[in-house]
Amino acid sequence: MSTPAKAIVAKVIRPEIQAMQAYAVSDAAGLVKLDVMESPYRLPQDLAAEIGDIVSKLALNRYPVPSAHKLRALIHEVMQVPEGCEVLLGNGSDECIQYITAAVAREGAVVMAPAPSFAMFAMHALFLRLRFVGVALREDFSLDTEAFLAAMAREKPALVWIAFPNNPTGNAFPVADIERIVRAAPGLVVIDEAYQPFAGVTFMPRLAEFENMVVMRTVSKIGMAGLRLGYVCGRPEWIGSFDKTRSPFNINVLTEAVAIKLLQNKSVLDAQAAKVLEERERVRSELTRLAGLTIFPSAANFLLARVAGGKGAGTRVFERVKDQGVLVKDFSGGHPLLENCLRLTIGTPEENRILLSAVRESL
Ligand code: PMP
Repeated sequence: MSTPAKAIVAKVIRPEIQAMQAYAVSDAAGLVKLDVMESPYRLPQDLAAEIGDIVSKLALNRYPVPSAHKLRALIHEVMQVPEGCEVLLGNGSDECIQYITAAVAREGAVVMAPAPSFAMFAMHALFLRLRFVGVALREDFSLDTEAFLAAMAREKPALVWIAFPNNPTGNAFPVADIERIVRAAPGLVVIDEAYQPFAGVTFMPRLAEFENMVVMRTVSKIGMAGLRLGYVCGRPEWIGSFDKTRSPFNINVLTEAVAIKLLQNKSVLDAQAAKVLEERERVRSELTRLAGLTIFPSAANFLLARVAGGKGAGTRVFERVKDQGVLVKDFSGGHPLLENCLRLTIGTPEENRILLSAVRESL
């Protein structure tokens, strides 16, 4: 009899991969989906119809143009990437994280980020056998800049991730503190601006000031999460290095064609983002009135809320909110600072009304 797959897996799959869980995304069928920071808005009918037409004419039998130069040129223009900088595209910025990490993955290299922050920074370090050092935020999720600088001096990270604004906490660390980190870093600093459309502040125009900084963005939060498109902007020396780790045809023809059309109509997406921003402030002011809930400052399209009470209080509210038809994200059991914390993505006014009433009923 041949050896069972289970036994071969136990022998050949890396122990740390065997020990981990695959990235979990909840099933949102039938629920108001406010768990993963998507835009709640679909496209206007006429634009959707034009996209249908474009897609019907694509040559799906052909590989994509490997350099996706048309889309890159458009991003350069529309996203105001400075002259002299280049753009690398990823299948979501998740894939950009993979490419950047692969490019720095020398034996013994260290990857560093504030903690808690976006989970994939640590995951890709793990995949590439790099040591990940998370530097704890303070209790109120503010950046402990002195602790971060001390950790950098000690660990000499090849790569530092700063999510600006941060996920899952929602706050944008002070620009002056990030500058100090970039100036002191011995290696590369990536400013991950996934939530920039809701923050109103960006490092993009300042790329030329810092030799060791690049800016990463995504179109996922402004209505194109389904397309899977992220990008990194920076000096050619950096982008050229990351490009060597890229799968040759990573941006598929559907993504490229649709993203071009949507970016040519970016004002539609900007108007949707503006509505989300307005709603964030309205939802925040409603939630802050509720006893038993702390709402943290947010510069993103979501709010982090801490439920008062002992262990399990946050998860109980999460379950009750879900029973009323709304899916949010529960962070209990993850990073200790996030105990009893729920992350609420901002939806349409109607979705937010349902969310607010579900939260009120659940506390
Ligand atoms: N960076 C941050 C900070 C995020 O929160 C996310 C997604 N939640 C990503 C990157 C990845 O986004 P995507 O792969 O959809 O571009």
